[in-house]
Amino acid sequence: MATDSPDLGVDLSRTLPLVVEAIERWQESYGGVESVPVSVVDAEAWRETLDQFLARLTDEQYPFFHPRYAGQMLKPPHPVAVVGYLAAMLINPNNHALDGGPSTAAMEKECVERLAAMFGMNQHLGHLTSSGTIANLEALWVGREENPGSVVAVSRDAHYTHARMGNVLGVEVVDVDVDDAGRMAVGDLAQVLETHNVGTVVVTLGTTGLGAIDPLDDIIPVARAAGARVHVDGAYGGFFALVADDSNDGVASRHFSAIARADSVVVDPHKHGLQPYGCGAVLFTDPGVGTHYAHESPYTYFSSDELHLGEISLECSRAGAAAAAFWLTTEVFPLTSDGLGHVLRPGLRATRRMHSLLQASSDVRSLQEPELDIVGYLTRARTASGIDRDSVQIFDELALRPPEEQWHLATYNIRVDDLARRGIDLKPDQAHARILRSVLMKPEHDAVVDDLVKVLEEASRRTVNS
Ligand SMILES: *Cc1c(COP(=O)(O)O)cnc(C)c1O
Repeated sequence: MATDSPDLGVDLSRTLPLVVEAIERWQESYGGVESVPVSVVDAEAWRETLDQFLARLTDEQYPFFHPRYAGQMLKPPHPVAVVGYLAAMLINPNNHALDGGPSTAAMEKECVERLAAMFGMNQHLGHLTSSGTIANLEALWVGREENPGSVVAVSRDAHYTHARMGNVLGVEVVDVDVDDAGRMAVGDLAQVLETHNVGTVVVTLGTTGLGAIDPLDDIIPVARAAGARVHVDGAYGGFFALVADDSNDGVASRHFSAIARADSVVVDPHKHGLQPYGCGAVLFTDPGVGTHYAHESPYTYFSSDELHLGEISLECSRAGAAAAAFWLTTEVFPLTSDGLGHVLRPGLRATRRMHSLLQASSDVRSLQEPELDIVGYLTRARTASGIDRDSVQIFDELALRPPEEQWHLATYNIRVDDLARRGIDLKPDQAHARILRSVLMKPEHDAVVDDLVKVLEEASRRTVNS
């Protein structure tokens, strides 16, 4: 049955009051607390402010929850995660130290064990972070400490924050070229390794732009031979390890099974782990790197001799609620093929179906065969500027319709010579062109792909730049 938002079995309007009551009962067990007037709000003014706030919140907002939002890597958290986050937030534990939240710190350690098992790591040191950027920063920082005076090598399609974080760390970041599908070119990497003192090679398993998988299994021996560490950026793609089974609705296993042999890996539960923002994670295969974190803190670690998470992380305060949400989610959707893996497969099916429909279309063409759940596509205009204008025109036209007919896409700025390498020859009247891009990351996308392709074909026939 179609509902306004998909029925996921957890009715928030019924569950949230239960959560609030449970926390209030716990609070009451400590005896009543007298309120202080300074923080008491006026009930009437509050109603008004709340109404204004709620109107403002949804006024200019894209409908991430809806399958016709088929643009960026954005979707609401699963209601299970909302319940976990909200319940813990009412207590507000800080996972920096066990003093800040013993139960959510324990949950975080269990979550990290679950992530390590997902990647097949038999030992690890790791923790959650506020984001993938911070998690990657941490891995690059450890790389710098392990190999002082060296540079970092990343593919030119890697996430832009690697260059930025290299700058923060005072480490030079060298670009490695990509092949004709946006994957790190191993031949070019070998050259960079020869000409530079590379301390860390960043291998992206699932580029943010196109979902390309760098050939980790081939890169590890090449990097190791040159004495470089291997860091896997799986911020977006890491959870596809759960379906790396070479099946029709899974992904190729080879490079995912190599993760356990890398030095570190980052994955973002706030991307494919059903979580709200800020939940990233970093894991190291050698627990010995923990020595780099040594610091003195005169006011934290006193409640226990056990390891405090702040002793092995770059950040200080961090939401215990993020760990609670991810822990509860992985109780309901374990990090297995049948658990969270099951949730990822429909998006892969949708992406493959969209690619094959586009291959048969005379109006819209697919950029390349997708490896994960991101599709790039463009019209049949014959100039770079025509492709660019068509993309913007279609993007705007579909987004400006009335809500029930809206579709939301994303654009992707690509080098025209990268299009040529994919056999898409345009009159190169400009060096870059925007194409269209959809991240089909919600299971609900599977049911709307045929409609999306029809809508795109109609819209492309209305463009004037072909
Ligand atoms: C999203 C992403 C990042 C950055 O992570 P944030 O959580 O947005 O800070 C880094 N690398 C890749 C591959 C990503 O997809």
